[in-house]
Amino acid sequence: MQEYWQNYINGRWVDGGSGRLAITNPGTGEKLAEIALASRQDVDDAVAAARACHRSGALSTLRPVERSRMMRRMGDYLLAHRTEIAELLTLESGKPYWEAVIEVEGAARYFEYYGNQAETVEGRSIPLGGDYLDFTIYEPYGVSAQIIPWNYPLEMTARGIAAALTTANACVVKTPELDPLTNSYLAHAAEAAGLPDGALNILCGYGDEAGAQLAGHADIGTIVFTGSVETGTKVALAAAANLKPAILELGGKSAAIVMPDADLDVVMESVRWGIFFNAGQVCSAMSRLIAHADVHDELVERSAALAQSLSVGPGIERREFGATMGAMISDGQRDRAENLCRNAERGGAKLVTGGHRLNQPGSFLAPTVFSDVSSDMEIAQTEVFGPVLTVLKTTSEAEAIKIANGTDYGLVGGIFTADIDAAHRAARQIQAGQIFINEWFAGGVETPFGGYGKSGYGREKGREALWNYVQTKNIAYRTR
Ligand code: NAD
Repeated sequence: MQEYWQNYINGRWVDGGSGRLAITNPGTGEKLAEIALASRQDVDDAVAAARACHRSGALSTLRPVERSRMMRRMGDYLLAHRTEIAELLTLESGKPYWEAVIEVEGAARYFEYYGNQAETVEGRSIPLGGDYLDFTIYEPYGVSAQIIPWNYPLEMTARGIAAALTTANACVVKTPELDPLTNSYLAHAAEAAGLPDGALNILCGYGDEAGAQLAGHADIGTIVFTGSVETGTKVALAAAANLKPAILELGGKSAAIVMPDADLDVVMESVRWGIFFNAGQVCSAMSRLIAHADVHDELVERSAALAQSLSVGPGIERREFGATMGAMISDGQRDRAENLCRNAERGGAKLVTGGHRLNQPGSFLAPTVFSDVSSDMEIAQTEVFGPVLTVLKTTSEAEAIKIANGTDYGLVGGIFTADIDAAHRAARQIQAGQIFINEWFAGGVETPFGGYGKSGYGREKGREALWNYVQTKNIAYRTR
């Protein structure tokens, strides 16, 4: 294990102006390594390098197929190093090794997907009569700022930079303080792929120092932020002060409605992934199950059995795909989740299983299920960001939809039913950016993703995301 990791600015590995930060392995509670901590000046240097790269035309004057090949090579680099990256990701984030492999492959997939789109960003010709030739072109904004959360540190960065670089934007990435190490491999991938210096800059720094400096920087072109509502609001305000467009991917308290005709085996498969994958630290987690009274008791019982069947412990020992769960990212996040569980019990929710930390080193919370939850309880309104399922009972489709829409969030939602009309009614009525019918997390890098309400605005993934990174220029030419 490398003991000290540096930041990457303008094609060089550099120390941080604010010293070093210790990174902890949440699977053991022990120190893992140190990383350079970026100062405000380091952020200025990175933005200047990205701006110079953009202005030089080193990315934008390339034929799109060249950028396409660079993106593909970056993805190939990640796949070629998947074992070492996944091991490092496991150690710094706490997730099981096999989940880390899925994340590395997911990150590579973004480079493949967006690399393939480089040649498709075409303008239009607009008829203005005989004396004119009018057409549009799409130009990059210049510097794309990316602020990354800790739950999928590699994949979230890949999601943003693959679309940004494909469209010829130079990037400055502010990695999460809790698990920044694997992002270094993206810099190695950029070098292996032949990206020009300054095209990709990666810094670890504190949010209120390096993050704030980046969000409020006058020389960025756009900003993409993924994280909490509270920080997203600060980032949006900082961006607005410089009139920079922002995309905000924030939290959620997403609900799955289960109708009496649903296939409960299918529902349980989605419970497994929806709330226990990544120990529930997923913005689009299925944190609320709104179960019809006819199937409610069986679902509570089966969810508890599922929670108890998961083997919870250090991710590095959980190598094979299966019924395992790792640590949460930190003691702080684990304690916050545990407190929310305690409050829920005090407030009258029934703790069916879990709800407590494990009696061993590391940031572990037992997989948890609550029943007898009503929509106005804190546990039904607040994002836990942990392996905590709340089950709410309902007796009608209309009431279920009302409960589903009864939070400030609107990231995703879903319904399980054999009735296609009911499914489509719910899909139209649930206020969220993505609806799953009979499979939670159905979709992929191809499908647009983003929130309604306090879950944010703008879209990542899919073709939609490309348009975050380009601005339309109209060119009108008088021919005589
Ligand atoms: P967070 O808001 O605490 O931090 C996110 C990032 O913002 C970090 O890199 C942090 O250093 C930085 N930051 C903190 N203060 C800042 C400031 N003043 N200015 C600029 N940057 C600042 O979120 P987190 O705890 O890392 O992640 C968990 C949250 O992220 C959850 O709410 C989750 O739902 C959300 N999330 C959303 C998505 C999505 O795509 N919608 C994906 C993953 C996580």
